[in-house]
Amino acid sequence: MATHPREDWTPEDGSHLYGLEHWGGGYFDVSAEGTVVARPRGIGANHPGIDLLEVVRGLEARDITTPVVLRFDDIIAHRMRHLREAFDAARSEAGYTGGYRGVYPIKVNQQRHVCEVIRDLGRELDFGLEAGSKPELLAGLGLTEGLPSMPLVCNGFKDAEFVETVVLAAKMGRNVLPVVEQPHELDLLATAAAAHDSLPSFGIRAKLAAGGAGRWAGSVGFRGKFGLSVAQILHAVELLRGRDLLEGLKMLHCHIGSQIYDIRAFKTAISELTHLYVEMVRLGAPMGILDLGGGLGVDYDGSASATDSSINYTLEQYASEIVYRVQSICDDADVPHPDLITESGRALVAHSGVLVFQALGSRVFPEEPDEALVERALTTDVDDVPQPLLDLVGAWGSLLEGGDPAEVYQDAEHALAEVAGLFNLGYARIEARAACEELYWAIAHRIARMDVEGLPDDLRDLPERVGDLYFCNFSLFQSLIDAWAIDQVFPVMPIHRLGERPLRRGTLVDITCDSDGKLDHFPLATEVARSLPVHDLKVGSHGHGSGNGGPAGDIEPYYLAVFLTGAYQETLGDLHNLFGDTHAVHVRLDDDGEWEFAEVIEGDTVRDVLGYVQYDAGVLRRTLRKEIERAVKQDHITLDEGVSMRRFLDDGIAGYTYLE
Ligand code: PLP
Repeated sequence: MATHPREDWTPEDGSHLYGLEHWGGGYFDVSAEGTVVARPRGIGANHPGIDLLEVVRGLEARDITTPVVLRFDDIIAHRMRHLREAFDAARSEAGYTGGYRGVYPIKVNQQRHVCEVIRDLGRELDFGLEAGSKPELLAGLGLTEGLPSMPLVCNGFKDAEFVETVVLAAKMGRNVLPVVEQPHELDLLATAAAAHDSLPSFGIRAKLAAGGAGRWAGSVGFRGKFGLSVAQILHAVELLRGRDLLEGLKMLHCHIGSQIYDIRAFKTAISELTHLYVEMVRLGAPMGILDLGGGLGVDYDGSASATDSSINYTLEQYASEIVYRVQSICDDADVPHPDLITESGRALVAHSGVLVFQALGSRVFPEEPDEALVERALTTDVDDVPQPLLDLVGAWGSLLEGGDPAEVYQDAEHALAEVAGLFNLGYARIEARAACEELYWAIAHRIARMDVEGLPDDLRDLPERVGDLYFCNFSLFQSLIDAWAIDQVFPVMPIHRLGERPLRRGTLVDITCDSDGKLDHFPLATEVARSLPVHDLKVGSHGHGSGNGGPAGDIEPYYLAVFLTGAYQETLGDLHNLFGDTHAVHVRLDDDGEWEFAEVIEGDTVRDVLGYVQYDAGVLRRTLRKEIERAVKQDHITLDEGVSMRRFLDDGIAGYTYLE
């Protein structure tokens, strides 16, 4: 698409505006044509990059429409290498004698293709997988088939069947490492080990006094749901010794929560965990592995700060903090350096996922009063013009003549409330009410465009309150559930037209029938704003404007993307309004640095989602076809209309759940 660069605005300005260099992790930048480009091997790497607009166009040419999740396998690979290199560098600098392994928790993104990317590179980088439930255990066993030495750490609540599966898998030669999370799991382990005469290596999860930081801080500490307290660990060691099972106890584990934003939380937890480890060695447990769980965070808003959506440390600092602390505590106690495991999930996959969708239209509130409408209201009932209308006309005039904006706004707000009251009592006509609303929005808009610094505090958010609504073809509940559930902030920006100054601001509303289905927090270069700078929607060749500024009908495609969505969003998302899984596409660089579609995974069809809620699409189709037949027979519709209706029905059932 042709861009319309303006002399005073460049693609770099677009990139700065949206804070791309702050939150992009070095994986995204903007091309000279004003499009977003993915750089899966890092911005400095010498390869051409992947133009997101080109990717979306390529998909559309293959009949795969937005919304679509783009998964960049090479970003996952880059993140894995980065983690490995950070720990290797920290270990070699410190002279640490234990090893390091990254273990990917499947729950963070269980999609098979994602796990396979990690598994495949994991062989080279000596990574493993982590499972937290029976289905994940089976998925993990399937993924590591033929790779007996690849570790599979098993966390989560376990029943006898789970434990027995693990014991047998270990007996078959698999490197499975169950982690005892509850005291009764020791009994399950003892029973299964005795039944099969085989004891796997296992770990114990510690309930640390050290709290985490951030949203999950409350889920750890003494009242945490998982792990054994120090007293229970002491008791467990004695119990295992008594049953002759202590030789299997090889690992101490902890997890202090996800998205740990403050490095100090890690420091405290590592110290506590390592002291506990040293004590267990002293008590005679063989040990050898220290698993520090997940928690390595992602800088979603690019602020590099100790706040919910950011982190105040780098991956290198995280690695060297762990290595340094574990080493010094072990050295002091004369205990060999354990092999280290981290279970980083979010930090491995978040950057690899990008959700792309189209704006379908916009609701633009009036910026100038419609003079004809105001005139009509003033002349409809000349003898009884409602006072609020006269007040609003006066307020508008006063604003144009330089009146105090705060005073004008208060008058306008008051008059708007008054006219609504009069209307509800039958004392104001529809013309008067409509004109009042027009005048109010025009006043609010004009004030919002003034220097915000000069506005009184209670009007500072006016630009957000009068911003546009951009209707977008996605479901927040399916694709960005954390934005709804825990107010997670995700970076959002258009993937094209970045060489054009965005002249509007808006919030993005989804297509679910739920007013919560909207994005209204956007990390920009200097702040998390309540509205996003966006471009005008351009009416296509056959389109026509919608009266209040938002194009209707045929608009030129305007693509927006939400970044850093690769962790947790895909499986946690739900079927609200029966919007199903979106299409997902793996984009990969080949040996020549050219990109290709490695996998195209089609999203749910209407038939699929109806099936999830126990509707049989076949029965539905038959029933509705019969009704169409009856309607034709009874001359309610023509035969041609009946045929069209049948076609809509069939296409609908087989089609995408999103607007096409
Ligand atoms: N390990 C365990 C036991 C977890 O519960 C989790 C997630 O909460 C993780 C690892 C992954 O954490 P993160 O994605 O923050 O790295």
